[in-house]
Amino acid sequence: MEAPRTTLPDGPVVTRLAPSPTGLLHLGHARSFTLAWLHARARGGRVVLRIEDLDRERCKSELVDTARADIEWLGLDWDGEVRVQSRDLAPYERACDALLARGEAYACTCTRAEIAALSAPHADDGEQRYPGTCAGRFASPAAALRETGRASGLRLRVPPGSVLVRDELRGERSFDVAAEVGDFLVRRRDGAFAYQLAVVVDDGLDGVTDVVRGDDLFSSAARQILLQRALGLPTPRYWHLPLVQDEHGARLSKRRGDIGLADLRRRGVDPRTVLGWIARSADLDRGPRPAPADLLPGFNLRRLPQSPARLSPADLAALLP
Ligand code: GLU
Ligand code: ZN
Repeated sequence: MEAPRTTLPDGPVVTRLAPSPTGLLHLGHARSFTLAWLHARARGGRVVLRIEDLDRERCKSELVDTARADIEWLGLDWDGEVRVQSRDLAPYERACDALLARGEAYACTCTRAEIAALSAPHADDGEQRYPGTCAGRFASPAAALRETGRASGLRLRVPPGSVLVRDELRGERSFDVAAEVGDFLVRRRDGAFAYQLAVVVDDGLDGVTDVVRGDDLFSSAARQILLQRALGLPTPRYWHLPLVQDEHGARLSKRRGDIGLADLRRRGVDPRTVLGWIARSADLDRGPRPAPADLLPGFNLRRLPQSPARLSPADLAALLP
């Protein structure tokens, strides 16, 4: 049986900018952050800045300040304190405890290699589908340690059947998480909390009503919805934005347009030329060098063109004179 859904509160829009300090922010980030900001501000809503830095191996602490400076350089602002995930792990700890206490999650001692030996990678991201080896195996993480001598991770019990993601721009799409991903990790064996868990916990804590982000995270929304249900949190409205492509329809690469905002900043580029490109790509014509506030009047994310945003050589030349 499906858990009862928690409904989204009526009230102002709350959205978030959620960079991960794993690399420099590029033009795609500038576009999704600006559109998220416009969506909230055009409705008198709030914007939260959250640094998603729980992946200790991939995150670089110096990039936290760079990301903040990039966002300020674009002329975007946010409300309240910046939430830096690594500074307070207690909310994720509590969420894991709650999932365990409700029987929604279980301890798993399997290594990646063990899982790889059992199943084929799924198409989406090359991860292995977890076959459920440890479901019903251990009474608790402590029991897992006692019985196997190994630290355990924690997996969400994924109900069979498909999960419907309703996207405000893309319409509805179903994902069979059980068949494609299986019971997925909310905490790794090394103790690190998974992105899927942290994002759901923080969206809940910050009262996020609208998630505006790149299309590459569309399939993650299905896992996040399962976690929201298991934790009794409301599902926000999702707006997955088509990714930015070069003039040939390829993802931006290092050679073609995948430029770090910090590089543009250092080269003395006027951030309003970046906003000008973002505005054109969103069918908002407010001149070549708009300020963020110039884009607010009448802004409606629903009118965003559904084709991928293009970054042409002419756009690039305008950005880098
Ligand atoms: N931190 C993630 C990223 O940079 C974004 C997560 C999200 O928007 O849900 O890709
Ligand atoms: Zn296992």
